[in-house]
Amino acid sequence: MSNTLMSNYGRLAVQFSHGHGVWLWDAHQQRYLDALSGIAVCSLGHCHPKVTAAICEQAQRLVHTSNVYGIERQQALADKLVALSGMENVFFANSGAEANEAAIKIARKVAHQRGIDNPQILVATGSFHGRTMATLSATGNPKVQMGFEPLVQGFIRMPYDNVAALAEQAKNPDVIAVLLEPIQGEGGVRLPAPDYLTQVRVLCDKNHWLMMLDEIQTGIGRTGQWFAYQHQAILPDVLTLAKALGNGVPIGACLARGDAAQILQAGSHGSTFGGNPLACHAALAVLNTIEDEGLISHTQQMGAYFIQRFQQQLAGIAGVIAVRGQGLLLGIELNRPCAPLVQQALAQHLLINVTADKVVRLLPPLIIDEAQANQVIDIVSDLIKNFLANSGE
Ligand SMILES: *Cc1c(COP(=O)(O)O)cnc(C)c1O
Repeated sequence: MSNTLMSNYGRLAVQFSHGHGVWLWDAHQQRYLDALSGIAVCSLGHCHPKVTAAICEQAQRLVHTSNVYGIERQQALADKLVALSGMENVFFANSGAEANEAAIKIARKVAHQRGIDNPQILVATGSFHGRTMATLSATGNPKVQMGFEPLVQGFIRMPYDNVAALAEQAKNPDVIAVLLEPIQGEGGVRLPAPDYLTQVRVLCDKNHWLMMLDEIQTGIGRTGQWFAYQHQAILPDVLTLAKALGNGVPIGACLARGDAAQILQAGSHGSTFGGNPLACHAALAVLNTIEDEGLISHTQQMGAYFIQRFQQQLAGIAGVIAVRGQGLLLGIELNRPCAPLVQQALAQHLLINVTADKVVRLLPPLIIDEAQANQVIDIVSDLIKNFLANSGE
C-alpha cells in the first residue's frame, strides 16, 4: 500500500468490496460475518434495500441546497426524532463529535444567559465523546488527549457511575451541565447501576444542571430501546446521536428540551452540510425500517439470547471477568489485554472489536438472526477459551 494516507489508523490487512445484511465480501470473494457494524453504524446491515432506495431516490432528486433555505426532509426527520425521543427540537450535524460540540456550545450559552461566566461541564472517567478539540477535552481517556494540549477548559472530571461524587459539585456555582454516556461503549461496555441515570436526573433537577446524554453509540435502537435513557422513566435536556442514524450516511444530531432548546438563535451555530436532503432521507428510511421490521423488540430478544448463550459457553472459565451488555451492545471482559483476538477472529472471517484493552466488544447489526448469532457466539467463545489457555495473564 502507498503512504498517501496519514498513519492515524491502525488498519487490519483486509478491505471489502461489497456487503449485504450481516455479510461483507473481500476482493477475493471471501465472505465475512460482521459483528461490529462499522462500530455501531450499519445497524440495518450493509446496503439495506430500503436505505439504498432512499439514497438513490434522493440523489436523483436533490442532494444539497443550504440551511439558508427550508429543507423538507430535514423537517420530516426532526419531527420523527422528536416524536420518538420526547425531546423538543433538533440541530443536525455530520458526525458524533459535531453533535457533541453543539451540546457543549448549548450548555455554555445557557450558562452565560444565567450569568455564569466560567461554565463547567461535569464529565466522566472512561468516557468517549469524540476527536475534536472540545470533545477530546471532554473525553476521559488520556490516550485521546495526549499530544494535543492545551485542552479546552470548562470540564470537570468525575468518576463514572458515582452519584455521590456528582452530588458534591452541588456547591460549585459554575457547573451548568453533566455530559454522560448511558453505557460507556469505547470505555469497555461499562453499564452503570440500573438507577444511575434516574439519580443523575434528580440531581440535575435539584441543581438546575442540564442533563446531556451522549447516545451516539447507544441510540437508535442499539440497546433495545430507541434511546438508552428510555430504559428508565426519564428525559435528558440534551441528547446527541450519530453513528446508526444514517446506517453509514454521515449524519449527527443534537436534540434539546426546555432552556436548551431555545438558546441557539440565528447566527449562533451552523453547519454547511448538516441536515442536507440526502443524509436526512437516508436517516428517515433508517427510522422507518427499524419501526416496520420490529427491530427494537428483536434487539431485546437477540441481546438476551447472546448474553444467555455466552454465559453458558464461558461459564466457569477463570479468565472471563464478565459477560455483559444491553440489547446488542455486548462486552466480554477478560482478566488480561486481548487485542490479538481481533486478528484471530478475522482469520475465521468474523469481524469483532476489542476496547479498553481487555473487553471484547460486539455490535452486531440489529437484523442479525439466531443462526448468525450462534455462529458469532461459537467462534468468539472458542477463540476466548483458546486465548486464555495459551496466553499469560
Ligand atoms: C463514536 C462516538 C463519538 C464520536 O463520533 P464521531 O462520529 O466519530 O465523531 C462520540 N461519542 C460516543 C459515545 C461515540 O461512541
